[in-house]
Amino acid sequence: MSTDQVNKNFKRYLITAALPYANGPVHIGHLAGCYIPADIYVRYLRAQKRDVKFVGGSDEHGVPITIRAMKEGVTPQQVVDKYHALIKESFEQMNISFDIYSRTSNKIHHETSAAFFKKLYDDGLFEEKESEQYFDEKANTFLADRYIVGTCPVCGNPNAYGDQCERCGSSLSPEMLIEPRSALSDAVPVKRKTKHWYFPLQNYEGWLKEWLLEGHKEWKNNVYGQCKSWLDNGLQSRAMTRDSNWGIKVPLPDAEGKVLYVWFDAPIGYISATKELTENWADYWCQDDTKLVHFIGKDNIVFHCIIFPSMLKAHGNFVLPENVPANEFLNIEGDKVSTSRNWAVWVDEYIKDFPGCEDVLRYVLCSNAPETKDNDFTWKDFQERNNSELVAIFGNFVNRTFVLMHKLCNGKVPVFHNEIADDKDKQLIEDIKASKEKVESLLEQFKFREALFEVIDLARKGNKYLQEKEPWKKVSGSQTPDAANQQLIDNCIHICLQLTANLAILINPFLPTTAKKMLHMMKVVDKMLDWENAGSVKLLSVGYSLRAPELLFRKIEDAEITAQVEKLKNGLVKAATSSPLPDAGKEAVPEPATSSLKPEIIYDDFAKLDLRVGKIVSAEKVEKADKLLKLSIDLGFETRTIVSGIALHFKPEEIVGKQVVVVANLAPRKMRGIESNGMILMAEDANGKLHFINPVDEINAGATVS
Ligand SMILES: [Zn+2]
Repeated sequence: MSTDQVNKNFKRYLITAALPYANGPVHIGHLAGCYIPADIYVRYLRAQKRDVKFVGGSDEHGVPITIRAMKEGVTPQQVVDKYHALIKESFEQMNISFDIYSRTSNKIHHETSAAFFKKLYDDGLFEEKESEQYFDEKANTFLADRYIVGTCPVCGNPNAYGDQCERCGSSLSPEMLIEPRSALSDAVPVKRKTKHWYFPLQNYEGWLKEWLLEGHKEWKNNVYGQCKSWLDNGLQSRAMTRDSNWGIKVPLPDAEGKVLYVWFDAPIGYISATKELTENWADYWCQDDTKLVHFIGKDNIVFHCIIFPSMLKAHGNFVLPENVPANEFLNIEGDKVSTSRNWAVWVDEYIKDFPGCEDVLRYVLCSNAPETKDNDFTWKDFQERNNSELVAIFGNFVNRTFVLMHKLCNGKVPVFHNEIADDKDKQLIEDIKASKEKVESLLEQFKFREALFEVIDLARKGNKYLQEKEPWKKVSGSQTPDAANQQLIDNCIHICLQLTANLAILINPFLPTTAKKMLHMMKVVDKMLDWENAGSVKLLSVGYSLRAPELLFRKIEDAEITAQVEKLKNGLVKAATSSPLPDAGKEAVPEPATSSLKPEIIYDDFAKLDLRVGKIVSAEKVEKADKLLKLSIDLGFETRTIVSGIALHFKPEEIVGKQVVVVANLAPRKMRGIESNGMILMAEDANGKLHFINPVDEINAGATVS
């Protein structure tokens, strides 16, 4: 597929990146999922001098924000103001080059979304339905399924959610829970009647199959496959309104206390942001020769490929996405990112810990991007890629070239003597030309990882060439080389300098700060980075004097990596004691309140516990579970297997022989396939570190505790 074929018909480009939810900071999974790929693509298009707009913004509506506000004792506006500012700053620090980064609480967005809804309503496209929903009378709010907790009818987990039990994985409905209660107030939820407006997606099924399944077979397999499965399973009406006071008011007379569903208004945010950006916004949204591309993570596929296009189709005035190159998820150190468990690498913290290293993170997240499947980020890999690729290949090549140029060519671009050019010179010149084509074709196909490897590979070829040419050997001591040798030196350095200029152009979409530094070293203007210059070996003029080399990348030390791994694990430990609730998304439950004293119990409640002194006789790590240790505990009358979540705090060999207090009559529970028969009591100190509870003096195993 050539560039011309791909872009023949498009006069302008509108690129969007998913609207992050203003309920927490940005982590590296977000960056890898859509912001870095979108930014690479946009920077490449700009270097091509195409007409492009890059829009984004914070999604600031939805019930989780109101609940967070309620729990923190602030207003929803204060919640979104705080996180919008933090998110925006993180993007700026990572050089995500939005043309506008807006927010959905802006007036223009409220007007645009309300008008969109009104148009569909006036065209008679909604179904109006009354239904019964759970209501929390204490918190005075309707409850989505996730906000209802109760005992799982399958496994007895007392903290199962109204849609799923996270312990046994059973899919549930609130009606199935034993003793359901509100996650907000603990009140018993009651049913109340409520009216909502539903968008009948099933009416668009035939059209979606034609437009998407037939018309966009070129979409990435992971995206196409997910869409196909949604369509194969059949679509249903979806409520496009909610009961809440926070959001965009439903623009109808009989809709007091109702707002637009957050997934109805959020994607319209792309339109509002474009309106805010330019008065020519309609060129981008209403002209068929616009190429609209949505960059998102895989959890947003249904909204961007099925629901939003159906809304756009129903409205009738807007272009549809040409492509939705969604990425899969990035895991951290082998485990899923979880904001409630604090298992994440936060961008604002990265920037503080690694100042000036934003390009390193961009590099690692692109070269390890979850483009076709979930991928894993590890700090070891981060260090490895920095030290052995950025430092040892790319940085090393540029640095050697500049040092040799100053030493052997008086700090100037030497002449290229065509008449003595050999096969190696010619081959490298060919490679420079070819790499432009390759990188370009890969970027057009959203294959960012491969495109980046291509650039690094070109630098690798430069290193190999220098190594084979050994220009430094053409000089003996402090003597001036003879004319023939000087010509060989000149040719080698000349090509390496032209290659350096090419590397700056090719790396620019990926690592913009690095490209800037290289421009400064070469004393050339930004215009050199125009994509059309790539492939040329006449970028730096003969005789032009260049600056001294700057360090492009620094080595990352073991201690820095160890500190990050520790930080990650400590965060997990702190979160582990506080949170029975899931990650906060647009629809999920927000973070829970911090621990306070539990409700009072009577003596009989306490007397039900059978607490015994035991002794750890063996301990081993549980495979594929970072936190778990499998323990054998001698209770005097028997030896038990107990699985305990203390592996981040203790090494197995350190705890053998220790006495502990065991809850001996706890119902057995399977963890990672191992049946655990009881629980060990632990105390947690202010730093989140765990300590055993045991008798001050060693006593007989099996002794009762009361
Ligand atoms: Zn269960």
